[in-house]
Amino acid sequence: MGVIFLIAGHHLKDPGASGNGYQENKLTIEMRDLIATRIRQLSPGTILWIDDDRDTLTQVIAKVNAVATADDYLLDVHFDAAASPKASGATVFVADGARDKSKSFGKDIVEFVSTILRIPNRGVRSEVLSNRKRLGILHTKASSALLEVGFISNPTDMANHEDWKHWAADEIARICIARVG
Ligand SMILES: [Zn+2]
Repeated sequence: MGVIFLIAGHHLKDPGASGNGYQENKLTIEMRDLIATRIRQLSPGTILWIDDDRDTLTQVIAKVNAVATADDYLLDVHFDAAASPKASGATVFVADGARDKSKSFGKDIVEFVSTILRIPNRGVRSEVLSNRKRLGILHTKASSALLEVGFISNPTDMANHEDWKHWAADEIARICIARVG
C-alpha cells in the first residue's frame, strides 16, 4: 500500500503570498489539515505523511526523498497570487515530463476543486510554466501534484474557498485514498 504525502506549502517562517486579509502559509496548513482529517475519518488504515511546519522546503524535500517510493502520492497545497484581483481559478503543476500517474492525479484534483469552489479550472500545467520554473517537491519518487487552490488576490476565490473548503478537502481526500488503494 502506498503512502500519501500531504504538504502545506511554505512554513511557519515563510508566509508565502498574502491578500484579502489572508496569509498563504496559514491557508495551506489549514487545508492540509482538513484533507488529513478527512482521510483519517474515511480510511483510518491509509498511511499519511504530514510535513512539519517548522521545516524549510529543502528540509521537507530531503525527508520525503528519504522514504518515498513509486507507489506513493504527494500533494503540495498552495494558493496563487497575481497583481490583478481578477486572476481566478485552480491550477495544478506537475513535473516537466511527469508520468501519467501524476498527471491524472493532478487532473482529478484540479477538476474537483474548481467545480466545488465554482472558479475556473486552469488545468494541469508543467512546472516550467510556474514562477520558479522547477519545483523540487515534484521530483521525489512519489507521483506528485502541486495544487494552487485559488487566488489569494481574488476576493471571490477566497470567499468561495471559505464557504466550500470542507467539500474540496473531502473530494481531495477521496481521490488520495482511491489512488493508494
Ligand atoms: Zn505558495
